[in-house]
Amino acid sequence: MDKCSLCGRKKSEVNILLSGVDGHVCDDCIIKAYELIQEEFGTNDFNIGELKLLKPKEIKAFLDQYVIGQDYAKKVISVAVYNHYKRLRQQKDKEEVELEKSNIILVGETGTGKTLIARTIAKMLQVPFTIVDATVLTEAGYVGEDIESLLTRLLQAADYNVDAAERGIVFIDELDKIARKGDNPSITRDVSGEGVQQGLLKLLEGSIVNVPPQGGRKHPEQRMIPVDTKNILFICGGAFEGIERKISNRLNTQIVGYGAHKKRENIDKENLLQYIVPQDLRAFGLIPEIVGRLPILAHLDPLSRDTLKRILTEPKNSLIKQYVLLFEMDDVKLIFEDEAIDYIVDKAVEFKLGARGLRSICETIMLDAMFDIPKKGNKFNITKEFAEQKLDKNTKGRFKSAS
Ligand code: ADP
Repeated sequence: MDKCSLCGRKKSEVNILLSGVDGHVCDDCIIKAYELIQEEFGTNDFNIGELKLLKPKEIKAFLDQYVIGQDYAKKVISVAVYNHYKRLRQQKDKEEVELEKSNIILVGETGTGKTLIARTIAKMLQVPFTIVDATVLTEAGYVGEDIESLLTRLLQAADYNVDAAERGIVFIDELDKIARKGDNPSITRDVSGEGVQQGLLKLLEGSIVNVPPQGGRKHPEQRMIPVDTKNILFICGGAFEGIERKISNRLNTQIVGYGAHKKRENIDKENLLQYIVPQDLRAFGLIPEIVGRLPILAHLDPLSRDTLKRILTEPKNSLIKQYVLLFEMDDVKLIFEDEAIDYIVDKAVEFKLGARGLRSICETIMLDAMFDIPKKGNKFNITKEFAEQKLDKNTKGRFKSAS
């Protein structure tokens, strides 16, 4: 008897039953699968026609809905994105002055919102977007992924629409991990470092790259898709752990040297990243050419307790709002008391888990409630005592204070 291999319903119980090599799938499951894909990867209605040019202030206002704090980075990005798309528009008009492409580099501790900013920009622009981890990239011929593979992912995100991909955004995470190790530039063969930087350079500058459509290694028979990277916006991110030392060294020599404009006592030692300049990236081990191709440099601030609390409650899709919605779907009114919220934030701070920790702490606290599902029409209060009790019960030492 023919039945859906996923949900098990018989042919007579569904509208359509598609047959595969050794199985069937019903229309209901197809729709569910499609919705899942939409949820996971967003829609594919890429805005490749006339791009609506939002003003920097509008871009920032959009970012504000999702990203808390980080005002400086949001401002810099808003201007950069605005100029980038102005540049795209200008190419059509062929004006005299050529606007140069401006890729972006975001420097900040892990979990402070670098990826979130890049992702939100892509969502706003409705252009294909992909995230790649610089650590998996290697020079051609070595174990790992060829650098072109990041364009494969962008193509995939664009549903193989090359036009759309060529206006997309690539977020390259952990750029700091391909910095040159050690200060000696002549170090013998640095497979994962300088070679990769050289390879990336070609993409950042803008060139036509032959991309293997399915990724993986190039081989002669594979049909390649030429992709022009001229208009692809690259946003790089990295924690650049230890770069504070380079910054402080530079600041110290500046203070001693001629033209010192910042007095030593005015320097905020808690947040040295805010003084970062391109030269510090070079000192950290990025080759000068790469630094030159990432002219827009912005730092992200460490997340304070206050920011963490706002992250929990304020963004358009904040965690708290998500739980309230989940319970609303079961017709239950969920209320987080302020003290419970403070408790969650305190724990995230205590465990040094940053914004990422908020999620796992909340999940642990909410597990039993989500499992039992309170009665329809009821109110459900999350008090501090409830949060405390659930966290103790459900963690069994999983969350250990890092200190
Ligand atoms: P990273 O800086 O390591 O790229 P992410 O952007 O991936 O950090 O942040 C991890 C998660 O933490 C995000 O998905 C988001 O939920 C939350 N988060 C981090 N920073 C912020 C912020 N400034 N505003 C709102 N949420 C944030």
